[in-house]
Amino acid sequence: MTDLLPQEFIRQKRDNHPLSSEDIAKFVQGLADDTISEGQAAAFAMAVFFRGMTPDEAVALTRAMRDSGTVIDWSKENLDGPLVDKHSTGGVGDNVSLMLAPMLAACGAYVPMISGRGLGHTGGTLDKLDSIPGYRSQPDLSQFAHTVRAAGCAIIGQTDDLAPADRRLYAIRDITATVESVPLITASILSKKLAAGLDALVLDVKTGSGAFMSDIEEARTLASSLVEVANGAGLATSALITDMNAPLAPVAGNAVEVAYAVDYLTGSIRNERLHRINLALGAELLISTGLAKDTGDANKQLDDSLASGRAAERFDAMVAALGGPPGFVDNYQSDLPDAPIQVPVIAAETGTVASIDTRAIGIAVIELGGGRRRASDEIDHAVGLTNLASPGDVVDQDRPLATVHARIADDVGRVDEIIQKAFTIGTTGEHGPEVLDRITSNAP
Ligand code: URA
Repeated sequence: MTDLLPQEFIRQKRDNHPLSSEDIAKFVQGLADDTISEGQAAAFAMAVFFRGMTPDEAVALTRAMRDSGTVIDWSKENLDGPLVDKHSTGGVGDNVSLMLAPMLAACGAYVPMISGRGLGHTGGTLDKLDSIPGYRSQPDLSQFAHTVRAAGCAIIGQTDDLAPADRRLYAIRDITATVESVPLITASILSKKLAAGLDALVLDVKTGSGAFMSDIEEARTLASSLVEVANGAGLATSALITDMNAPLAPVAGNAVEVAYAVDYLTGSIRNERLHRINLALGAELLISTGLAKDTGDANKQLDDSLASGRAAERFDAMVAALGGPPGFVDNYQSDLPDAPIQVPVIAAETGTVASIDTRAIGIAVIELGGGRRRASDEIDHAVGLTNLASPGDVVDQDRPLATVHARIADDVGRVDEIIQKAFTIGTTGEHGPEVLDRITSNAP
């Protein structure tokens, strides 16, 4: 490695002295080329966990992690629209990416979306897409670029070439109790977004019982850090703080969320809450890139993308270009895996859904095998929950709390119990607003 003495660099952060951008870049280079040991990386992460980072340090860390691998250069593709992306901090029944990426593509943007696998109780877009037979969620960069150009959107996983220093540091944070650090989360998320060569980004920072940040103030802190650092690193970014006190779509799992997204794209269902979130996030990007002049114009374009069938066509083209079955949008019911057991969960008492422990709904999906307990676990794409009741719904013998899609009969009783406990039944209940706050940069 270069002349940086890692233990001195770690000592500086431990003792709350400022780190220079140059030293941060050298340390990150050492993370990528393995000249920094796992112990040194862990000690650095713990020092940052306790001491935090200044905005300048966080920008330098983000830039250095971006530069540890390939930064996609889209200029040779001669695209006729801006490159945009949406990132969610994770929720339950949050299949927004599957709908919003093709909607934005249909409005003239290009969406190179690098998504993740499920984390904790939350679902991952990549796991959902892996329900589609043949879909290559980890193509090489040339197939990724080809798909973005041809379909207008491509949703894939982090490849070996993008932000490798983040991949190493994240794996070390995961086993050293240092994931929950705002500057480290910020640098980790944004290094990958910057490596994707975007023009604009919108962040969906979730708060509530199904989010990692159940407290809105914590969500605001993370959103502000992400927005400041992204703009500081040259990426036009805003954030919406959105409600996760109930599953977003009334389904949770993998294949069931893909099916729901296709039904939404083709217009056979319309969940108003989910639709308003799609419009709010989409409008941020269409306006910031100049594709729409104001919110009314953005909403109209996004609605037209659905009504005209163009968003569904983009989704179909993306699936086919990444190796999935041609004509997926028409044939998804036979293409997607189906769980052999489907049974309703009937509430123990008749009444109105007052509130939902949304995290427990995510845990129920893991119990069915639709999420992982360990990073190495295989997941069952067919299992999950559909027909989830919402706050305000009256539940009785005819209106269940949910329908369980299970592989094995033994899972049903356990999951029934989790779901019964997750719902509080009372006499009234209602959803709060979907968008709780909007965070933009203070930078001039
Ligand atoms: N997602 C990431 O990519 N990185 C984090 O640190 C947390 C969530």
